[in-house]
Amino acid sequence: MLSYLHGFHAGNFADVQKHGAQALALRMLQAKPAGIACFDTHAGSALYDLRSERSQKTAEAEQGIRKLWAAGPSSLGEDWQPLVNVLADINQGGSALDQYPGSPEWFRRFRRPQDSLTTFELHPTEGRHLADWAGRDKVRVFREDGLSGLLRQLPPPLPRLLVLIDPSYEVKSDYGAVADTLARAWRKCRHGVYLVWYPILTSGLEQTLKQAVVNGPVTRVLSSEIHLKCPPDRGMTGSGMLVVNPPWGFDERLAAMLAEVSGEECLNVSATMDWLVPE
Ligand code: SAM
Repeated sequence: MLSYLHGFHAGNFADVQKHGAQALALRMLQAKPAGIACFDTHAGSALYDLRSERSQKTAEAEQGIRKLWAAGPSSLGEDWQPLVNVLADINQGGSALDQYPGSPEWFRRFRRPQDSLTTFELHPTEGRHLADWAGRDKVRVFREDGLSGLLRQLPPPLPRLLVLIDPSYEVKSDYGAVADTLARAWRKCRHGVYLVWYPILTSGLEQTLKQAVVNGPVTRVLSSEIHLKCPPDRGMTGSGMLVVNPPWGFDERLAAMLAEVSGEECLNVSATMDWLVPE
């Protein structure tokens, strides 16, 4: 039974890292004209209202995207500007940041006519929201397990591939299942770029995922982590992204983006960037 709802967490510090990396990877791949098949295996409901009861209850966006918004575009470098422009557009140019895009909406906003978007969402209500949202555009929505769904669709009909795997990790077995799916997906499409989000927890459970990737066949795996400088005693103390086959120069550009938002007045995190598995 799924109970996680991203509406409680939309726009938090982890979303800033995840969506920053997602947008950068897509835009860097678009330096070449070949079409990109984008897959979002755990899509959520695509659009979030930061004034909603859920969002207000945790106020996580206050320590995340609202810090960047308050700092203003002039305090952010070039690679943040496309994201800031989307936020301005989705909030109709107003000064308040009320609407926040989830990962499928970020994909939709940046994709070109030759790129495709395929999404998966298992939660019945979230899946309904996603399907309503997708009705406006050419987006494929599957209300089924995103890991097996992805494997079924690979290799894609387009020359290039970008996959975001962003589970809620509600069950411990998700960590192993993600590593296993990554290995199987990579065997089907070795040139694909895979982004895998994971929480950094006081329990250290995320090490199961990282170790399984280290022990597996996949190479060229970058690990970007941000760690809260004032972490809670229990639960999530940071946010991590594995990036398989990052475009050339991606590590430096993402590191620069994260350095710009790491300060005490913004996300108040320390950021690291390492190769988990080199070439
Ligand atoms: N990717 C979204 C974003 O960045 O805006 C947030 C996704 S949220 C962290 C994880 C989502 O995965 C939840 O909406 C949850 O219902 C969904 N989910 C959980 N298990 C799933 C599965 N096996 N297949 C597809 N979706 C699943």
